[in-house]
Amino acid sequence: MAAGRESHSVGPLELPAVAYVITQPCIGVKDASCVEVCPVDCIHTDDDSEMYFIDPDECIDCGACVDPCPVDAIFPEDEVPAEWTSFIKINVDYFK
Ligand code: SF4
Ligand code: SF4
Repeated sequence: MAAGRESHSVGPLELPAVAYVITQPCIGVKDASCVEVCPVDCIHTDDDSEMYFIDPDECIDCGACVDPCPVDAIFPEDEVPAEWTSFIKINVDYFK
């Protein structure tokens, strides 16, 4: 009884934590739609930067920022398109 429902919710516990990453398309757009929806306020920038960055230590991998982005700039770290993988380090380095 109720056999199927519970078994679906245990799998993600085994996945490693993978932060989301902001990539190339944000440059020059920087509209902060993602900032408004992030539940842990881990997306930051400053006046000297051309884009926003996600703090990988604070990101809880909720994915809420992906759909609001008007230019599809945000990806889970393990799904960043090959031409933009340098942005994984760029996001990390911003918070050092
Ligand atoms: S995945 Fe969630 S926690 Fe991480 S930056 Fe996006 S909205 Fe914030
Ligand atoms: S919503 Fe997209 S374009 Fe806007 S600041 Fe965030 S990552 Fe950049």
